[in-house]
Amino acid sequence: MPHTLLLAEPRGFCAGVVRAIDVLNRVLKREPAPVYAFHEIVHNRYVVESFRRRGAVFVDAIDEVPLGARIVFSAHGVSPAVVEAARAKRLRVIDATCPLVTKVHLETRKAARDGFDILLVGHEGHDEVEGTRGEAPDRTRVVDTVDDVSGLAGGSRPVFVVTQTTLSVDDTAATIAAIRARYPAAQIRNDICYATTNRQAAVRAIAQRADVVIVVGSRNSSNSVRLREVAASTSTPAYRVDGLDEIDPAWYEGAGVVGLTAGASVPDELLDPIVEDLRRRGVTTIEPVIVATETVEFRMPDELELPVISP
Ligand code: SF4
Repeated sequence: MPHTLLLAEPRGFCAGVVRAIDVLNRVLKREPAPVYAFHEIVHNRYVVESFRRRGAVFVDAIDEVPLGARIVFSAHGVSPAVVEAARAKRLRVIDATCPLVTKVHLETRKAARDGFDILLVGHEGHDEVEGTRGEAPDRTRVVDTVDDVSGLAGGSRPVFVVTQTTLSVDDTAATIAAIRARYPAAQIRNDICYATTNRQAAVRAIAQRADVVIVVGSRNSSNSVRLREVAASTSTPAYRVDGLDEIDPAWYEGAGVVGLTAGASVPDELLDPIVEDLRRRGVTTIEPVIVATETVEFRMPDELELPVISP
């Protein structure tokens, strides 16, 4: 049974998630419910349910929002078409898009203006990919894997490559290598963010020493799903769960060393019960495995810099 717990460091909240949650928190403190949010503010079931209980309403279409209502755009960003639809309904928008996602939008917009075709490396259907593609929908093709690259039809325009921010570092390197082979003159931006990179390096470090790895994060959280894949790529069994209640104690059988981490949208409070449970099962040593120290912070949107008035 487990005797040692390795805690990946960094793990859990990134600066973009902290900012998005802070934005919705402040709006809910200032304004009467309901406050609308376009898409889940961050991809975590627990966070979203907590906000729902406080009066946030999450929508997937601007049609669902009453004229003139307050709406917060999620950390994953939105397409210009969504911005325009919100403007047409005179919605009062606060944009909680992570600044690192906004940077990808700006790169995409500029490349399209400069006459490039865009290859967007990312997962089809993910909120962030939909938002970025919307910057230049007629010029953008989404590719996920090396196979997708070999299936691409040629084009006459030069190629510009951007990526989703939360991809697997290793898989993306392979996809980008395939793009480079196919389009040697392509201009390539690798937009995988610092938080994704650091969390993947940290989970790899614990997985190399652990007998089993637990990743806390929701199934629709791209970076959490990637963390489980990175851990499993070291041949250590790895499981993604939303919380303690989804852990099967059989996973710990024969496992002396357990690794634990969490995706960028996961609050620490979801890890505490797992740590306590492991202590009860016999863990006596808890060791942080630190691969990076993060100091990134993003400022609030201007509309929210004023002091919060508590109800
Ligand atoms: Fe921003 Fe990266 Fe966090 Fe996404 S994972 S919100 S891009 S810092």
